[in-house]
Amino acid sequence: MKFSELDAALYCSRCHDKTLHQVEYLNNKIYSIECTNCHHKIVSEMNPMRELYKEVYKRVTSKPTRLTKEYKEGSTHFLGQLPKRVLSKPYRLKNYVSETKNALKKMKAEK
Ligand SMILES: [Zn+2]
Repeated sequence: MKFSELDAALYCSRCHDKTLHQVEYLNNKIYSIECTNCHHKIVSEMNPMRELYKEVYKRVTSKPTRLTKEYKEGSTHFLGQLPKRVLSKPYRLKNYVSETKNALKKMKAEK
């Protein structure tokens, strides 16, 4: 679970004008939109635990299929890639856990 930000020119209902907005995404879904002029902020009613559950579920269910597909396409490539994957996994997982923790903390603070 991860937050990302993007600036976009959108119409603000308070400023009655097109202003620069800071858009925050959580897992590619809009989490909040804030007008950089009047700081009017709209936060979506996303349930963090539900988003996390959906993400973990997707990861768990998509993995075997991906590996199986590569295996079918050519076993040499599959085997060559395997050790690298196994090695990089703890690092990726550590990153993922800290990103998720930060995202949950942030959402809790804003509610
Ligand atoms: Zn505004």
